[in-house]
Amino acid sequence: MNPPAAETPLSRAAAEALVAEAVENGRIDRAPAERLGYALRDADVLEALLGGADESRRRGKGDVVTVSRNVFIPLTNLCRNRCAYCTFAKPPDSPEAETYTLDQVSDVVRGGVRTGCIEALMCLGDKPEVAYRSHRTWLADNGYASTTDHLVEACRIAFEGGMLPHTNAGILSQEEMERLRPWNASMGLMLETTSQRLRGRGMAHFHAPDKEPAVRLRMHEEAGELAIPFTSGILLGIGEDERERVDTLLAIRDLNDRYGHIQEVIVQPFHPKPDTRMRAVAAISDPEVAGWVALARLVLGPDMNVQAPPNLAPDVLPRLLRSGLNDWGGVSPVTVDFINPEAPWPALRMLEKETAAAGQRLRERLPVYPEWVRERAEFFDPRVRSALPRFADEEGFARPAAERAGEEAA
Ligand code: SF4
Repeated sequence: MNPPAAETPLSRAAAEALVAEAVENGRIDRAPAERLGYALRDADVLEALLGGADESRRRGKGDVVTVSRNVFIPLTNLCRNRCAYCTFAKPPDSPEAETYTLDQVSDVVRGGVRTGCIEALMCLGDKPEVAYRSHRTWLADNGYASTTDHLVEACRIAFEGGMLPHTNAGILSQEEMERLRPWNASMGLMLETTSQRLRGRGMAHFHAPDKEPAVRLRMHEEAGELAIPFTSGILLGIGEDERERVDTLLAIRDLNDRYGHIQEVIVQPFHPKPDTRMRAVAAISDPEVAGWVALARLVLGPDMNVQAPPNLAPDVLPRLLRSGLNDWGGVSPVTVDFINPEAPWPALRMLEKETAAAGQRLRERLPVYPEWVRERAEFFDPRVRSALPRFADEEGFARPAAERAGEEAA
């Protein structure tokens, strides 16, 4: 007899059986993952999925949910790609186009250190010099042959200024990652999707050569060969179907099986933004996002760190906390301070309260996760490895900022 097609409706009992088997085995196979993926808009199936993912998370991560106190450094918002949903990238003639000087990087780092942040998140567009002559000129005028030259210097400044950089610079060659590794605790690239369809005309990645799935998979492999703690992730709702979502999660699992270097997987929903080509595309619903976080947990297993950005709508956090995540990602007090100076840390306080209400504990981490700090010394350049004890306690979580500041002053 042929197995049921992935799109066949699932009863709650059948969903519970698939989920229970996945929890017991520690991971789910492609066929049951696709069946659950197609059915998770059904409230009964979703509940079964959330229950299993929550149990898997509890087995691997206990009751701890982590967060990283960070500063965001958008080194340049120029980018050679034009993804149909992006609002980050600006053309050079936009009044919002900006490339940070090293003095600006130093200023942000000083603000981060002052407010107890550890992670300097270097986020930038892909190789803008390939597309824009004006950026090639800017780089040359400032003594750089490439954006990577500029980025290496920015990471050095952040590291020497008392923070741990985490770089997400789009596609980098293996040689470029090798140059960045001595100044970075970890690096990342969202795989986003393995869907080749989305590179087609009219699709989200048609104007984005760096979103070629094979190119992104290759960079993940090269980071694995270099033993770089690596962040990956899936982007939901940019035109891919359920089968392609499952395929993306399985590709990340396979990379980690081969290299053991995937330290976290972000499950990121796309939100349509005005002024983008995809402004009219409907966002996937909050329950569906929770369902895909849960399925990510079952695909990736109890030991993987699964992150979902906290949507601040109060009714969403409790559901997300039951969906198998164990990390909220980065929260920046510097940004919050800037927007809302009379009420510092509201995001962190709110997350702490919501996490506790779900019976879990919020703890601060470094850009790398505690188990990496404790047990995976070979994943760090000697310079970064020797810096980790300044930032981490004996369990590998972030040491309290006051304690770190006291030590610096002594
Ligand atoms: S790669 Fe795409 S999403 Fe990333 S900054 Fe460039 S245009 Fe935006």
